[in-house]
Amino acid sequence: MKVTQLLAENKETIISFEILPPTKGKSIESIYTHLNPLMEYNPAFINVTYHRAEQILKTRRDNSLEWVEIRKRPGTVGICAAIMNKYKVEAIPHLICGGFSKAETENALIDLDFLGIKNVLALRGDAAANEKFFTPHPQGHRYAEDLVRQIVALNNGQYMEEDIIDGAKTDFCIGVAGYPEKHMEAPNMDTDIYYLKRKIELGADYVTTQLFFNNTHYYNYIKRCNELGVTVPIIPGLKPLTNKKQLTTIPRIFNTEVPVEFCNEMMKAKTEEACEQVGTEWLLHQCRDLLKNKIPVLHFYTLGKPRVIYNVLKQLF
Ligand code: FAD
Repeated sequence: MKVTQLLAENKETIISFEILPPTKGKSIESIYTHLNPLMEYNPAFINVTYHRAEQILKTRRDNSLEWVEIRKRPGTVGICAAIMNKYKVEAIPHLICGGFSKAETENALIDLDFLGIKNVLALRGDAAANEKFFTPHPQGHRYAEDLVRQIVALNNGQYMEEDIIDGAKTDFCIGVAGYPEKHMEAPNMDTDIYYLKRKIELGADYVTTQLFFNNTHYYNYIKRCNELGVTVPIIPGLKPLTNKKQLTTIPRIFNTEVPVEFCNEMMKAKTEEACEQVGTEWLLHQCRDLLKNKIPVLHFYTLGKPRVIYNVLKQLF
């Protein structure tokens, strides 16, 4: 079922998760071990991230260096199929522009359609590890809006090969990313929302947000989006912050603020367990507030921390 239908038809709050494919060499069992306890809370859908290949410098036996391409976390499409098969839950693959030609994207979309996948999250992706700024594939897309355009074209039966007439129409529900504290490259919030609106006008159906720790940013974002004409559902992305190191890494990576009270409590915690407890309490406090404000879906970035999410859900429902 499409995310938009799930949102429209569910009267209760929807729970959903995002997971990462395991690092290469691990089995699919690591995904099941991660998800099994969480399935008690009947997620309506599970997102699976996509990770582009990276160029890394490898030392040869003779001590000379060579650039090699590695993909540390392959398997997004296979994991989606496995999740749908095992848990009978909608799985949403992330699709990124970075590292892909348009032809490769089209073929990936055909695979997804044949697997019965009805939802995709269309993203630009970040700069590659060895790049300062995002550089598109020479035959690929520069912005997520270009990817949205390609998915919509396929939904209309338009393939890259112009001689395909009466092409089969796919029927993807398209999600896109939004940033309650602005995307780090955007000059200001309104400009960022202007480009978000373009993605919606081109055919995206809903927005999933970047993680945030201060709900006020999320509420203000919805308000400003509405004022600027973005009226599709905006799903809040929630992640537990559970150790002191993350107080500096998370704001840098995700361009998000950690509120003073949360920071102070974390700094006071003396042990790893105490830090995790502070992070759990903060997430719980965020979720209770979102529920109080009748936000119809809570989307959790589980990122290796399923126990924290489980403990939060246990106290909420
Ligand atoms: P875009 O919408 O293309 O925006 C990128 C920047 O360009 C913004 O500053 C925007 O304001 C600006 N912009 C947009 N369109 C235009 C235009 N036409 N002209 C000029 N400026 C424009 N990354 C991964 O690699 N894999 C994942 O699985 C993944 N999952 C994610 C899930 C969520 C919910 C979120 C919020 C992010 C995820 N990301 C993932 C990270 C994401 O790819 C990065 O944040 C990336 O830097 C931007 O992606 P976007 O889709 O928002 O890009």
